[in-house]
Amino acid sequence: MSDDLMFDIAVVGAGPAGLAFTRSLTGSGLSVALIEGQPEAALRDPGFDGREIALTHHSIRLLKSLGAWDRVPAGEISDLREARVLDGGSAFALTFGAEGADRLGVLIPNHLIRRALFEIVEGQAGVSLMAGRKVANCAVEPAAPRGRVVLDDGATIRAKLIVAADSRFSGVRNQLGVGVEMNRLGRSMMVCRMRHDQAHGHVATEWFDHGQTVALLPVADAEERVSSVVLTLAAPAIAGLMSLTPEAFAVEIERRMQRRLTGLELVGTRHAYPLATTWSRRFAGEGFALIGDAAVGMHPVTAHGFNLGLRGQETLAKVVRSARVGDIGSGRLLARYEREHRLASWPLYRGTNALVRLFTEETAPARLARGVALRAGQATAPFKAVVRKMLTA
Ligand SMILES: Cc1cc2nc3c(=O)[nH]c(=O)nc-3n(C[C@H](O)[C@H](O)[C@H](O)COP(=O)(O)OP(=O)(O)OC[C@H]3O[C@@H](n4cnc5c(N)ncnc54)[C@H](O)[C@@H]3O)c2cc1C
Repeated sequence: MSDDLMFDIAVVGAGPAGLAFTRSLTGSGLSVALIEGQPEAALRDPGFDGREIALTHHSIRLLKSLGAWDRVPAGEISDLREARVLDGGSAFALTFGAEGADRLGVLIPNHLIRRALFEIVEGQAGVSLMAGRKVANCAVEPAAPRGRVVLDDGATIRAKLIVAADSRFSGVRNQLGVGVEMNRLGRSMMVCRMRHDQAHGHVATEWFDHGQTVALLPVADAEERVSSVVLTLAAPAIAGLMSLTPEAFAVEIERRMQRRLTGLELVGTRHAYPLATTWSRRFAGEGFALIGDAAVGMHPVTAHGFNLGLRGQETLAKVVRSARVGDIGSGRLLARYEREHRLASWPLYRGTNALVRLFTEETAPARLARGVALRAGQATAPFKAVVRKMLTA
């Protein structure tokens, strides 16, 4: 008799996308193996990773319906009331206000989202958590149940459906032979919290300066004097900044900010992320589906990665729940997810990449074009309405 472990679904990766998808299956009666390389203690109490996640209203509604929202301490949620886009040394700013709503969105530290999602999945009926165990290889075979997932400790899991939620560098995607468009940008994004003299007023700023991109995101703080500083530079320059003492680092960031913020002081740890955008050639096929960053790895500048991941897992869960248990791995069924999620993702992925190109090219025509683009954007009510909808929908 085979020692293979049998499940309806094997979810690889208990990041925010894998956790949310697993929770979306609650009450479905499906058995789920949730496989994660990190140890259980790191899932239960993830450390601060520098990311402050801007959530759209749709994502807020979803997190509420999943039961995760109430598990994020209210004092850690920062309202986003206005967003401003600046270009180089120009004093002109393209601004987006909440226009009638109380806020454009909210910002929540990523590790608190992960913690909240883990809390609601832990102990969920039908879910077997396999933490501290990595997927060594996997395949979709001709005979049912078609999914075969082999772990690094030699255990084999058989499932009708394999769901890859194992990041933009997804190993499962490679093993299943799914191609990917990957753009390694040669740049890194450094994120950290800094205290400053000026109150942030819950305004987020995206400043496309010459040779660097800086975002300032308002952090929940009684005096409104802590912001998340997000700096994008060539990878070696970011490595140099990471190695500075906290004091030298604060001096350097203040210089780079050209005194837009003063009295800077590092709060907590710094984190660097090498930038790569990815677009999987398939989001689903016979016996498998990709969700979260494994499907679309967005450039963080438009703050859509997790929002899209949440939307995608919602779509996949809806499709899976609509099927008979025996059919959940059917390619025809999963094509519905693929179609819907590609339609939702494609404009955001391509639009974000075009924006990054426009705002990081240093040629004279590109500089002229972005000055024109910002002013035209500010003067065009429909354009602003579309962007506001992207931010808040
Ligand atoms: C600086 C920064 C700022 C961001 N800001 C925003 C924002 O404001 N708004 C927004 O919506 N998004 C934002 N994002 C994007 C967001 O963080 C990601 O989209 C999101 O974390 C992706 O979640 P995921 O679950 O798909 O992947 P991940 O978070 O990468 O999780 C993947 C999981 O899979 C596990 N894993 C990998 N391989 C294996 C294996 N072989 N076996 C078992 N487990 C495995 C990993 O350990 C990990 O836990 C930002 C990203 C960055 C870098």
